[in-house]
Formats: sequence, C-alpha cells, structure tokens
Amino acid sequence: MSEAVKIHPAVDAGIAPTKPNFAGGTLSCHCATDKVTVEIGSQVAYNHVCGCTKCWKPDGSLFSQVAVVGRDKVRVTANDEKLKVVDPSATIQRHACEVCGVHMYGRIENKDHAFYGYDFVHTELSPEQGWAAPEFAAFVSSIIESGERPENMGAVRARLNEIGLPPYDVLSPPLMDAISTHVARQRGVLKD
Ligand SMILES: [Zn+2]
Ligand SMILES: [Zn+2]
Repeated sequence: MSEAVKIHPAVDAGIAPTKPNFAGGTLSCHCATDKVTVEIGSQVAYNHVCGCTKCWKPDGSLFSQVAVVGRDKVRVTANDEKLKVVDPSATIQRHACEVCGVHMYGRIENKDHAFYGYDFVHTELSPEQGWAAPEFAAFVSSIIESGERPENMGAVRARLNEIGLPPYDVLSPPLMDAISTHVARQRGVLKD
C-alpha cells in the first residue's frame, strides 16, 4: 500500500549506497543543448529529501533531494550565463538555469548564517554513482503547501520511515542543534 506513495525518483526504488572515497562529479541541467554544468570537487554531506516549496523538485516529485558541500568545491564549468538567482530575497540564493528551470546550486551570502560556506546541490543531476546517500526527510509538513492533501501525511511519513528517511518538519536534530549553537555563540550565551 505505502509503495504507492512516491517520494523522489532517487529513493523510490531503493537508495544507492554511498561509495567510500567518492571524490565528486559533474551536475548538468536538463537542457538538450548548451547544458549548464557544475563541477563538485568532493563528496557531499547531509544529503536528504526536502519538502519545502523552495527547493527544486523533479516533475511530479513530492520532495527534492538536496545535499551540502563546501562552496569552494563548487565550480560552474559551462554556460554560466544561463544561471539566474530564483529569489534574491531568499536566505539561500538558488542559481537556476533560466531555460530548463533546474536549480544548479544554492548559496548563502549572509556571512552570519550558520551554514555560510556551504552550497546546496542536487546530486541526481550527476551521472556519477557514489554520492552520500540521503539520510532523512526535512520540512515534511511543507508538502501540504505544494498541494498535498493533509489526510495523506500519515501515509507519506510511514513511507519515509519504511525507506529509512526519518521524517522531520524542520531540519534533522543535528542540523537544528548546529543552527542553535551558532545563534547562541553569536549572542554570547555559549562562550566556546
Ligand atoms: Zn538548462
Ligand atoms: Zn527545501
């Protein structure tokens, strides 16, 4: 029954394993010609599926799949001129191909943000196998804002648990702890 709930193409048929010593790959947009390409020079971290309304999702997908990587490891290698920031007022500046709409990387420019220095990328845009496997589901309740029926949420969360992606309605506990630790240090509440 719950197999009927489709989460994301990268996890619906089983999650590909992380390859030890994986060193990165190249993301390509969905254009037939003149693809935007972005080279990722390392393994990613905190890969997860995300239900928010801002992350790029493949057609028909309830969730996006998104991971973080150091911004110094992200390099646009072709057709940079097709990239536009989707929403310049958003915390994460999502650089999308203006022709096909695919988001190639998201970047935080606010140096005071807990995740400054990390870019957000969709590893499914790369043909390489071995990227860090998704570990959890973030912003699950937010899929209702994209049109999912509230009464389906039990089935969605059951399916996420079944495939090994614990559902959270914000980020995972380690990431929420990292944000609060950062804020506490900024405010001087935590001294070290
Ligand atoms: Zn494109
Ligand atoms: Zn998101």
